[in-house]
Amino acid sequence: MIPLRVAGRSTNKKSDGSLAWLRERNRDRVIGVLRTLGRTSQADIARTTGLSRTTVSTLVAELKESGLVFEVDTKAPDGRGGRPGVQLVLQHPSLAVVGIDFGHSHLQVAVADLNHTVLAERRLDLDVNNRAADALDASALMVEEVLAEAGIERAAVICAGIGIPGPVNRARGTVGSATILPGWVGLRIAFEMEGRLGLRVEIDNDANCGALAEMTWGAGRECSNFAYIKAATGIGAGLVTDGRLLRGASGTAGEIGHTTLDEAGALCYCGNRGCLETVASGPAILQLVGQGRSEALTLPRVIELAAAGDIRCRRAISDAGREIGVAVAGLCNLINPERVIIGGAMSRAGDLLLGPIRESIRRHTVLAAADRVDVVPAVFVERAELLGSLALALTSSTEARSAPV
Ligand SMILES: [Zn+2]
Repeated sequence: MIPLRVAGRSTNKKSDGSLAWLRERNRDRVIGVLRTLGRTSQADIARTTGLSRTTVSTLVAELKESGLVFEVDTKAPDGRGGRPGVQLVLQHPSLAVVGIDFGHSHLQVAVADLNHTVLAERRLDLDVNNRAADALDASALMVEEVLAEAGIERAAVICAGIGIPGPVNRARGTVGSATILPGWVGLRIAFEMEGRLGLRVEIDNDANCGALAEMTWGAGRECSNFAYIKAATGIGAGLVTDGRLLRGASGTAGEIGHTTLDEAGALCYCGNRGCLETVASGPAILQLVGQGRSEALTLPRVIELAAAGDIRCRRAISDAGREIGVAVAGLCNLINPERVIIGGAMSRAGDLLLGPIRESIRRHTVLAAADRVDVVPAVFVERAELLGSLALALTSSTEARSAPV
């Protein structure tokens, strides 16, 4: 096996600027793109890296010669939005990444190879919000299980991506807000998980993970500027500008659920009043339509009833869409996305939710931004954050501090 260094790193500063250094750096960039995109063409590698087609062609020939890259001849589109033709895949069957998704009330874990194939995954229902330490312990056990099932040695895992349902201060490896996920405050998640797993970890919030999943395999492919909205128990946004996630100074960028819509509105758990989540989140909808019913409702049941014609359920979902649209319109004015991707459990309502979102964006966004933006459903719903945590590991491993892989 030829040891590979990864993008942007040089261990030989004396050779900085030399042709050999440049060649090695470009080779690392090609490998980084293959790891992030999974399967791609030479033309896409050239476009993503900014290298000339001739340079990419020479580097790819070398990588094929060394057995690190092989070709897949796709006669038809691959079903993931890819174009037909010869595509390239990074061949490294022994290496893998782990993804861990902490939801508010569940935990999901998966292991995938560098060719973006999920090899094994597990799900557990658990009160993650209030039992943070238990959730961390349980996730470590589940990682053992998926690695065993996939036959992957721990030493072969190059990174574990972790998504948590609240803002993340990535520099400190902690939760970035004391009020949004109180059970996790003070916990050094990255440090704790590195200790439990014996792996390098990267953490991010759930909406950013959803955005990464859509960017890598879903509705955000080949789109450099989009907003992914997770509408579920909470409402959050993962913002991609110029092909990169926008995280902000302390990791709270995209906390659209706490946009104030009514200063005199209901008190929100974040400490403010009239936040979007107080009127348009899953719990807010359940509170509205649950009154006077003998049946204990869940969000999927409300969506089912709405699809069957229940007037109150339909009104509650479309009103939520209108309110979400008001907040998203503000976002469109700020970042001018090409696409708004609606994900999370509420997106199962389809156009009943998306229609009013589109209408609000038209009403409240400057015309040029409103004309430009498409509002589309997410490709992934239940597994978005899990797949996104894998994408986080795949992406961050290309920026990894250490070689070799
Ligand atoms: Zn709030």
